Amino acid sequence: MKARFLTTAAAGTALVAAGIAHAQDEEVTIEATDLGGGIYMLVGQGGNIGISAGPDGVLMIDDQFDRLSENILAKVEEITGGQELKYVLNTHYHGDHTGGNEAMTAAGGTIVAHANVRVRLASGEEPRSDEALPVITHEDGMTFFWNDNEIQIHHVPSAHTDGDSMVYIPNLNIIHTGDTLFSGRYPYIDLDGGGSVDGYIANLANIVEMADEDTQIIPGHGPLSTEADVLALHDVLVDAKAAVQALVDEGMSEDEIVAADPLAEWNETYAWGFINGERMTRTLVKDLTTEMSHEDMDHSDADHDH
Ligand SMILES: [Zn+2]
Ligand SMILES: [Zn+2]
Repeated sequence: MKARFLTTAAAGTALVAAGIAHAQDEEVTIEATDLGGGIYMLVGQGGNIGISAGPDGVLMIDDQFDRLSENILAKVEEITGGQELKYVLNTHYHGDHTGGNEAMTAAGGTIVAHANVRVRLASGEEPRSDEALPVITHEDGMTFFWNDNEIQIHHVPSAHTDGDSMVYIPNLNIIHTGDTLFSGRYPYIDLDGGGSVDGYIANLANIVEMADEDTQIIPGHGPLSTEADVLALHDVLVDAKAAVQALVDEGMSEDEIVAADPLAEWNETYAWGFINGERMTRTLVKDLTTEMSHEDMDHSDADHDH
């Protein structure tokens, strides 16, 4: 268990380091897109932020990196005319989504997340401070009745991590996926953090089922997206998994499979700095060749009745 968390912390640090390396010579501006109904998508660096603004105050979904907190809060003040920050949902534990937790707590926000997010933030090589930990946790989803909307928080079992929350606002037809969607690029699937390829694929199918052609989908990473973008990634992952499985079945080793480059046909479109073709291939091989417990693979929660 210890080793698992250490590996996870290392992966998280790599994500943060990638973000910082990027940021070194550029000033990050926070761009806001108005999705209607008091919902905004904020893009800076790290995971895309969702905002619900209105008479009840501000509910924020994810908070990127600590060094951006001042800019993020300034942008929220600007678009909401100074509404109070009340709640911050962490879609999962990674540092590019929770880095601002201390600052958001100091700004009056109450951090909310799946129970596993609290466990992971509090452990590992560099445990986060008490001010960064969720004070309200859910096990299997929850609902905010907030700013005249029903903001549903769905727990996604074993997809990007083991603590993923996805946000669905039915009356506005808006979804915030957290990192259960990397739009137009290979996803990071955090196997050491309880994620799984099958869980990730199953949830992409689940999103397609929830959505229609007009749904506005805020991905964890990538631009504002549509059902078609989700379906495209779903199909690539299904085919990529099958391509890797075929080589695993031939008895090839992980390095031999990487050398055979089974994802070549998708790399041009879907590979990017953090998850290149090799990293995606290794993730698929590891997932397909590691025994998963049935508990981890329980996707019974993936089917919601809408
Ligand atoms: Zn992320
Ligand atoms: Zn993530």
